[in-house]
Amino acid sequence: MELPFAESWRIKMVEPIKKSTREEREQWMKDANYNLFQLRAEQVYIDCLTDSGTGAMSDRQWAAVMMGDESYAGSSSFFHLKDTITKITGFEYVIPTHQGRAAENVLFSHLVKEGSIVPGNSHFDTTKGHIESRKAVALDCTIDEAKDTQLEIPFKGNVDPKKLEKALAEHNEKVPFIIVTVTNNTAGGQPVSMQNLREVRAIADKYGKRVVLDSARFAENAYFIKTREEGYADKTIKEIALEMFSLADGMTMSAKKDGIVNMGGFIATRHEDWYEGAKRFCIPFEGYLTYGGMNGRDMEALAVGLDENTEFDNLETRIHQVEFLASLLDEYGIPYQRPVGGHALFVDADKVLTKVPKEEFPAQTLAIELYLEAGVRGCEIGYILADRDPVTRENRFGGLDLLRLCVARRVYTDNHMRVIAAALKNVFDRRDEITRGVEIVWEAELMRHFTVKLRRL
Ligand SMILES: *Cc1c(COP(=O)(O)O)cnc(C)c1O
Repeated sequence: MELPFAESWRIKMVEPIKKSTREEREQWMKDANYNLFQLRAEQVYIDCLTDSGTGAMSDRQWAAVMMGDESYAGSSSFFHLKDTITKITGFEYVIPTHQGRAAENVLFSHLVKEGSIVPGNSHFDTTKGHIESRKAVALDCTIDEAKDTQLEIPFKGNVDPKKLEKALAEHNEKVPFIIVTVTNNTAGGQPVSMQNLREVRAIADKYGKRVVLDSARFAENAYFIKTREEGYADKTIKEIALEMFSLADGMTMSAKKDGIVNMGGFIATRHEDWYEGAKRFCIPFEGYLTYGGMNGRDMEALAVGLDENTEFDNLETRIHQVEFLASLLDEYGIPYQRPVGGHALFVDADKVLTKVPKEEFPAQTLAIELYLEAGVRGCEIGYILADRDPVTRENRFGGLDLLRLCVARRVYTDNHMRVIAAALKNVFDRRDEITRGVEIVWEAELMRHFTVKLRRL
């Protein structure tokens, strides 16, 4: 008999989590004004809000914490981290920052000017924020296929080379660099192929431009290249990662994702002029160059995390778990964005709660129902998150209305995935009885989803 798949780790330390009653959850949800960000963590049984900073560190990482060198300048922990990053990426210059958006802030302060145009594939929201706040434009050149939630193609995160070439032909002088997000978070954790990175490189070279990889999930992207792209099956994740970065000039990194640390980030590049430029902003915004935004101990843990998470077994365990959750949803007929990506599953709420009008926020309603059902916390990536149009002040109903279920790295077991799927099935089975959603009672002008107050209708 063939042995079933199992995790590539065993558990050495546990953190108890608590179940609750439906009555308790009804009260807590009401107290939180039907906003899942306003719940206390202990009111949640299984937390799928985000995979950012929520991973479990390994025994080697915790051991490395004890080796942290907290010297203000010249910390040996910085050099351990830098050497690991250089080995994995080939980039010689490294600037640590407190998280990914800080890396964006430091690098973009040097590179992005008023009127700049930064083409890329569905820029992450903080990336877009750091471009737009400088009165520049984040130009989305993702392939059109990414918009079709039911289309199954292996590299749905790709850049459309034609759109990119057009952008460069039209706005050449205004483009400081091209940014490619691997995996493409906004399109649902969808990977970018090596072939596509090569095409982007060729276009960049033709127009004399540099390429930045927004690398939060670069290791998961390398896993998909190994398992889906011709010619990579026999290469190691580390070989594939090195090849990906060889096609770029620099990177920004949120280490809270594929670095498997709870806080941290960095910039890395092969170009001294970018390093010199970014240095000037690191010191006032983040800190001195050999710690940036990080403790010595956190830099040690990150060095180990990067090494561990560029090993196939670790990634296979993680992606397998996300795919397992997706397979249960397939079994129950619950529609989600296909194919499932690397870190999360996006339920198509518009297709589930068909009786809830979009003005009453179906995805948020589904998130509330799932929490009430079993204490599972997901996150609305839909009409509330989309904010209002800055000119008309109308809600924006043009995009997708999704319930995102993130899977934390090395935290939950497949049994927890079964609970999530069963709870969702119970809600799905009574979907036709759910005819009303929520209305907004209070909202902030921007990024309203974090603090919005809602009322159930
Ligand atoms: C999380 C993330 C960021 C921002 O990083 P933070 O650590 O949250 O500041 C940037 N880009 C992508 C693709 C991300 O997933």
